[in-house]
Amino acid sequence: MNIPFDNTYAALPAAFYTRLDPTPVKAPQMLAWNEALAQELGVGPANADVFGGNAVPDGAAPLAQLYAGHQFGNYNPQLGDGRAILLGEVIDTHGTRRDIQLKGSGRTPYSRMGDGRAWLGPVLREYVVSEAMHALGIPTTRALAAVATGEPVLREDGPLPGAVLTRVAASHLRVGTFQIFAHRGEIDALRTLTDYAIARHYPQADGAMGLLRAVCAAQAELVAAWMSVGFIHGVMNTDNCTISGETIDYGPCAFMDAYHEARVFSSIDQQGRYAYGNQPRIAVWNMAQLATALIQLFDDKEQAVEEATQIVHAMPAQLQAAWLRRFGAKIGLPDATAHDQPLIEDLLALMQQDGADFTNSFAALGTDTARDQFTDRAAFDAWHTRWEQRTGPDAGQIMQRTNPQIIPRTHRIEAMITAAVAGDMAPFERMMTALADPYAPSPDHDDLRRPPTAQEIVPATFCGT
Ligand code: AMP
Ligand code: MG
Repeated sequence: MNIPFDNTYAALPAAFYTRLDPTPVKAPQMLAWNEALAQELGVGPANADVFGGNAVPDGAAPLAQLYAGHQFGNYNPQLGDGRAILLGEVIDTHGTRRDIQLKGSGRTPYSRMGDGRAWLGPVLREYVVSEAMHALGIPTTRALAAVATGEPVLREDGPLPGAVLTRVAASHLRVGTFQIFAHRGEIDALRTLTDYAIARHYPQADGAMGLLRAVCAAQAELVAAWMSVGFIHGVMNTDNCTISGETIDYGPCAFMDAYHEARVFSSIDQQGRYAYGNQPRIAVWNMAQLATALIQLFDDKEQAVEEATQIVHAMPAQLQAAWLRRFGAKIGLPDATAHDQPLIEDLLALMQQDGADFTNSFAALGTDTARDQFTDRAAFDAWHTRWEQRTGPDAGQIMQRTNPQIIPRTHRIEAMITAAVAGDMAPFERMMTALADPYAPSPDHDDLRRPPTAQEIVPATFCGT
């Protein structure tokens, strides 16, 4: 087993983490291995002992990271990796530093009431959805391996098969990593962390305010990208908000079937805080928390508050511009301006009124089947006339590049998990193949494009720890 580790986080002050090995498991068995990613990282071959946590590879510096975070708006002064271990970092073939982390690898000092484990369902869900996100061209953590532990994990519904996911990330720095040191008044640690984050992610950024500006821009782009594919993250807590701008933590997430702005999936999100249409606002709120932490670095607080406020207040306009660019392209406009906003919004309103499928409606635009997606055909036809007047000859090409034909549908993910629990990995393999090419999928996978029937609808998703 070769992993060319080059670790930097482990060289940071001891207050940033706890060094500890993953907890061994009974009978590790390789369930999934991402060979293309492995080659990008220079890692291999697949090894169930290493990626199940039973063997610590040469050069690893295993540790659990410390962080805090706002969960559903309430500050939790200490979270941290309660079920994850960072093995170390490698430099990939593009020259980018990447974290290799085991998730579900046993208890840590930050586990609180948790068992430090994960069951097969959420492990495979994260594997499929994060890889689908990558294929869609949206920044995300990646999945390198899934290993069955051979041990049961006890959850509300009884014992479930345990598993470990190997997650790869540009880093695991979160807004919450900054919050913990700021909140504790550990300014030296906060400064060290800020310098580390700038060097690792935004070397061109000018100081803490430059970092804030860069993270705001990355998060604005990210959330606009989620919106454009109907993705609902589900737990946009500040501990699940990365500094790199990658999507992280696929818990109760989902891609919408029928479009509704207020759609929520997560069973624990009773207030709809993380509803589809609220995500841009929450992204700004999260950046305000990062700003609050970074302000602690400055002697002249008044001036720092002013500058940080300006940066955060610029974010809604960035989000709006990114949204317009992406949704403009979804209806075939290469150059959408504020004048086109009503055309886009009216289509979304129609989709919401008719319960039209988000993915399939956009995918069908410009084809004979577009109006079949709507029940109010007259209203659609009227919209279509306006749309035809606005678009040019390149609209079809633009839309083909922008509108995925296939996304991981929640009901198919649930069916895939049920099969995997029964020992059948074929639906997982099939989903992975189909989702690898979302803009031009093979007709063999047409069934995976179909929205759920009334009986198939999965009303809620669960954190699934
Ligand atoms: P998440 O909702 O997955 O972002 O997790 C929030 C916090 O709970 C993090 O500190 C996790 O490490 C911790 N956590 C989640 N599930 C478990 C578990 N099964 N055992 C220990 N800690 C957990
Ligand atoms: Mg998390």
